[in-house]
Amino acid sequence: MKELHLLPIGNVPPDLLGWLQRQLCELFRVPCTLLQPALDPRVAYHPEREQYHSSELIARMQPYVSDQTWKLLGVTTEDLYIPILTFVFGEAQIGGKLAIVSTHRLRQEFYGLPEDKQLLAQRLLTESVHELGHTLQLTHCDDYNCVMAASHAVEWIDIKQPTFCSDCASRIV
Ligand SMILES: [Zn+2]
Ligand SMILES: [Zn+2]
Repeated sequence: MKELHLLPIGNVPPDLLGWLQRQLCELFRVPCTLLQPALDPRVAYHPEREQYHSSELIARMQPYVSDQTWKLLGVTTEDLYIPILTFVFGEAQIGGKLAIVSTHRLRQEFYGLPEDKQLLAQRLLTESVHELGHTLQLTHCDDYNCVMAASHAVEWIDIKQPTFCSDCASRIV
């Protein structure tokens, strides 16, 4: 059976990764493996923006894909961007195998609020399922409770459930 592979990109808290691994395994009903060693994110660092280009990181993830790979999800704590946007929470290959998510702007501290580990974990799960949904060829959904609803701000992630609405679930290929 093909597996969901998680790849840390830089230093990611192991307890958070382990928790995400268990949740995704249960949700997608596939074996889920944590790949090591971590990918070094510095190759995609752009000093003029002080951010990491997510598409470049996705390109660097390609060699980690094997015959066993169902999907490969990169997880990083670094701040991601694509050139046309200020930032991205994550990026995915539509209908492909690769996706990446960042915890950077999912942390309450980023918004000047006290740390909330549980909220961070929940947001990371929702964002991970969202990006994996794109790899399953899903586009954005109008149902704001659905994990495939677009989120341009962190508050929108908090409205969503980390699950697909029945319409999206039926369209998964
Ligand atoms: Zn999206
Ligand atoms: Zn939906």
